[in-house]
Amino acid sequence: MTGAGVSPGNGHGPVKGVGVSPGIGYGPAYVLAERVPEPPVGERYAGEAGPEKDRVAQALERVAAELDRRGERAGGQGREVLGAQAMMARDPGLAVEVAALVDTGLAAPRAVFEAFQKYRDLLTAAGGYLGERAADLDDIRDRVIAVLTGVPMPGVPEEAPGGVPYVLVARDLAPADTAVLSSAVVAAFVTEEGGPTSHTAILARAMGVPAVVACPGATTLDGNLLVDGGAGLVEREPEPHRVEQVRRADAARRRLLAETTGPGRTADGHRVPLLANLGGPADVPAALQAGAEGVGLYRTEFLFLDRASAPSAREQEEAYRAVLEAFPRGKVVVRTLDSGADKPLAFLPPPGEEPNPALGVRGLRMGRHVPEVLTGQLQALARAAEGTSAQLQVMAPMVATAEEAAWFAAACRTAGLPEAGVMIEIPAAALRSADLARFVDFFSIGTNDLAQYAFAADRQLGVLSDLQDAWQPALLDLVALAVGGHGRPCGVCGEAAADPALACVLAGLGVGSLSMGAAGLPAVRAALARHTLVQCRAAAAAARAAASGEQARAAAREHLPGLSELGL
Ligand code: PEP
Ligand code: MG
Repeated sequence: MTGAGVSPGNGHGPVKGVGVSPGIGYGPAYVLAERVPEPPVGERYAGEAGPEKDRVAQALERVAAELDRRGERAGGQGREVLGAQAMMARDPGLAVEVAALVDTGLAAPRAVFEAFQKYRDLLTAAGGYLGERAADLDDIRDRVIAVLTGVPMPGVPEEAPGGVPYVLVARDLAPADTAVLSSAVVAAFVTEEGGPTSHTAILARAMGVPAVVACPGATTLDGNLLVDGGAGLVEREPEPHRVEQVRRADAARRRLLAETTGPGRTADGHRVPLLANLGGPADVPAALQAGAEGVGLYRTEFLFLDRASAPSAREQEEAYRAVLEAFPRGKVVVRTLDSGADKPLAFLPPPGEEPNPALGVRGLRMGRHVPEVLTGQLQALARAAEGTSAQLQVMAPMVATAEEAAWFAAACRTAGLPEAGVMIEIPAAALRSADLARFVDFFSIGTNDLAQYAFAADRQLGVLSDLQDAWQPALLDLVALAVGGHGRPCGVCGEAAADPALACVLAGLGVGSLSMGAAGLPAVRAALARHTLVQCRAAAAAARAAASGEQARAAAREHLPGLSELGL
């Protein structure tokens, strides 16, 4: 995707990363502190133990209260994540442990450090989901030590200093970092890690904030930054007239894109419904505003990240009904919990230690491992749909075989759900889509995971982002196989759908609908409307005939002249 054309500024050449959330952001760099310094080994306090213990108790409570406050401000998923962290800070066992160390003469910061270390070792030894919580514990420890030693608190400022939105620069960002932010506070994200399909990228798009990931040396950037989240460029200390020029070009491009309205279709009227990817009811307003015709991917696990126990049937029903009611007569595709790997749910731990969690018990595999949770979710969905006019379709993530597809479809039928589908995210499922089609009503291709598994490239790793490129001809071949001659409708709900040029290619490959974060809809709608189905097919054929992702992109664009007219 090209942006508004950032080019070298005043002697500092632009830094290149991967643009994952289009738009222009400008502001002072705020580099996220990595870690609070470790308090010196053996550091002791002068005076009585009592006041030293009081300092610790106050610091723990201050950190817990701050996390609660941030959670309240974030709402929804953020409240869950940060509320769970606040509970860790208030753990009575931890307080007793720190107090015992203070009694031995250790100064409060060092006592906190050692007590947390003990807990950390226990979690790490437990492995799996608990092991992954070690990072949360480190975060709380650093906050408490920051309070005790008076060094800056780690984490992101929730308000723009002086009212000027900042560019958040980090090695990588966790959902907890971004949960409390909004576009009023953050002008753009720039990270060293993270691929185009990492959850940093997905969250940035959901917030409508420009973002560049996999940007080498990002954390050394300082001063004012101009970020082009489409082209993946970061320019340092641009002249004011340059910022103005780039912003004007971006605003003009957005106005042009907004001129195309209505349902998704090509210039010759071939329908390609444009749907939204949601993480919960909070994402509905942006989807409606962007003219989504329905929901193509409701990531239900986003509702329950970091929940200690399984959500109640009633709570689930409410979260599902809120989305179904927002799209009367529209299609709403709900995905069952995709727990595991980078999205662990506390109430669904994997059955054993997983050296490679992305290849472990996740998605439907977890549903088969704990069938009562899946059944509970399917029943809650069936009840949520009662009395609403939306067309509910339910699909399972991470399906590899026809046998798994058949098992899931039978579970949906038992729960009284009329339409069951599966995601195609594993090459085996794409290769044998005709087998799977005998059991399910529809398919949705998850290009994020399909690329991860086709190229054996972890989607969290910025250094492998070239391999997670959905333009790779091998990935396009897999999409073509998945769409296949089986006659079942097949959409795409991975991030590839939000790339306007690739969206035309996908339509040309026979993909029936495209689902994406709301911010991507205007550009895709406009790109489709500028090209005929014949042009889309020619672009698809040219891309598949290419020898690399880069060549595929260039070859497809030759057949899609409307893209440059739109500034895309
Ligand atoms: C995908 O893998 O493409 C997908 C849409 O699912 P997620 O990004 O949630 O894994
Ligand atoms: Mg996936």
